[in-house]
Amino acid sequence: MILAANFKMNHTRASTKEYLRKLQECPKPKDLELFVFPPYTALDRYEGPAVIGAQNAYGAEQGSYTGEIGLQQLKEFGITTLILGHSERRHLFGESQELIAQKFAFYKERGFTIFYCVGETLDIREKGDIQRYLLAQLEGIDLKYEGLIVAYEPVWAIGTGRSAKEEEIKEVLAFLQTLTSRPLLYGGSVKPQNIQTIMRIQGCSGALVGTASWRIESFCQMIQKMKEL
Ligand code: PEP
Repeated sequence: MILAANFKMNHTRASTKEYLRKLQECPKPKDLELFVFPPYTALDRYEGPAVIGAQNAYGAEQGSYTGEIGLQQLKEFGITTLILGHSERRHLFGESQELIAQKFAFYKERGFTIFYCVGETLDIREKGDIQRYLLAQLEGIDLKYEGLIVAYEPVWAIGTGRSAKEEEIKEVLAFLQTLTSRPLLYGGSVKPQNIQTIMRIQGCSGALVGTASWRIESFCQMIQKMKEL
C-alpha cells in the first residue's frame, strides 16, 4: 500500500520539518509506503518513515531554465522520487504532453520513482471520452518502467471535496490495468472519511492526497485507517 502527501504550495521548510517529526510518532503498518512531496524550498534530507519527493522537476541536470530545478538540485538532497503530469501542472501551467514525456524519459533514465498523474476533466467525463483522453496523457510514457506509479486523479475531484464514486474509480483503474502492471493510485478529495472505501477498490494500491494531507493529524488519521484495513 502507498500513501502520498502532496503539499502543493503549502508549508515552509520549518513546518515541513515539524510535520515530518510528528510523522515519526504516527504508527504505520509495515506494508505501507509513505511519501511526502513538500515544496521545492523545503526539500532536504529528513529522518523518518517517509520518502521525500519533489512535486515536479525539469528534465535536465542543470542549465539556463529560470524558475526550474533539475537533477543537480535534487541530488543535493538525495531525492529520487518525483510527481510528473499533475493536473495543476497540465492545466494551470500549460505543461504539454511532449514536455511531460521528455521529463519522464530523463528521470526514468536516471532510475527515479515517478508518480505519474492522469485524469479527465469534467467536460471529458460528461462526453464519455475518458479512455481516449487518458491514453493521450500516457503518450510517450513507458508503462513498463519499474519505477512507475500511476495516479488516477480526475480533475473535477481534485481539491473540490468531491471524490469520484467507487464505481467510477473502479472502472478507470480496470482500464489502466489493461495498460500497465505497475501500482495504481487514486487521488481526488481523499480524506480520513473515505480512504478505507477507496483502498478497498479493486486494483487500487494506494492514494495520492492533497488537501487532507496538509495537517499531520489528518494524514496520521489516514495512516491509522489504512492500518485497520
Ligand atoms: C492532488 O492534488 O494530487 C490531490 C489529490 O488533491 P486533493 O486531495 O486536495 O483533491
